[in-house]
Amino acid sequence: MIKDIATPIRTRAILEKHGFSFKKSLGQNFLIDTNILHRIVDHAEITEESAAIEIGPGIGALTEQLAKRAKKVVAFEIDGRLLPILADTLSPYPNVEIIHEDVLKADVQTVIHEQMQGIKDIMVVANLPYYVTTPIIMKLLTENLPLRGIVVMLQKEVADRISAAPGTKDYGSLSIAIQYYTTAETVMIVPKTVFVPQPNVDSAVIRLLKREEPAVKVENEPFFFEVVRAAFGQRRKTILNNLTTNLPSGKVLKEVIEGCLADANIDPKRRGETLSIEEFGRLSDVLFNALHKGPTES
Ligand code: SAM
Repeated sequence: MIKDIATPIRTRAILEKHGFSFKKSLGQNFLIDTNILHRIVDHAEITEESAAIEIGPGIGALTEQLAKRAKKVVAFEIDGRLLPILADTLSPYPNVEIIHEDVLKADVQTVIHEQMQGIKDIMVVANLPYYVTTPIIMKLLTENLPLRGIVVMLQKEVADRISAAPGTKDYGSLSIAIQYYTTAETVMIVPKTVFVPQPNVDSAVIRLLKREEPAVKVENEPFFFEVVRAAFGQRRKTILNNLTTNLPSGKVLKEVIEGCLADANIDPKRRGETLSIEEFGRLSDVLFNALHKGPTES
């Protein structure tokens, strides 16, 4: 019987054996609670038909639990010092492949193609390095990867923003960006005590399940996201003022924006945080047609 990596005693023994010291700059907070790991893997609904992509295996705590249930696990680890440790701790699991690379620079599409041939169910499951949670999630969602979804541990504050509904204080461009591609849900709140070293912030696990089609159909996706970012430029300002100051596609006359808001049936005095994703979609299409498809009538 192999002892789990994620217990305080075994983790300490592994770290001591290899003389490993944590690098705070790489977001290294390792999980030492097997029960939490089981629950994360449960939420990802991993079966022997699934493949899992992990970001940052650390000393292999989560990797091991994934390897016990999935057909294949591929993990990206940036810190070369962890490679010999992982070779040691994960030696009982031949279905694990560790790739020594910064996930933000990695060609994940090719890795999936090469390592997960014939596997239809692919999930990303990770305890993310907190200094890069948003860029990692956005990369995974915008690269059109054949994923069913993403189940990840991150800062609770970011989880709150990702799953926020319109009109709440946490709702912003991140909520819209992620809810455009997925249905987002916080599935666990996790105490600091299950990590070593303990992080300074509270943690949560979110589950993002990819939509078959984006939440709203828009004429031009990059422009839609420009409008969303512009609308949240300064939260206290109205949508009219934010769009007038922040739209990067060149100076747009206030009157033109006012006309577009009227056409999209949106009160110019509303704030960005009250608009639903559908309203943003409508607004972005009206603006796109007005600004990029010839002169406006007015
Ligand atoms: N999965 C392990 C666990 O739960 O115990 C470790 C999680 S720890 C929060 C984050 C891991 O991500 C660390 O092993 C760190 O070295 C790695 N990491 C940090 N930045 C990375 C990046 N850009 N690409 C890949 N791995 C990264």
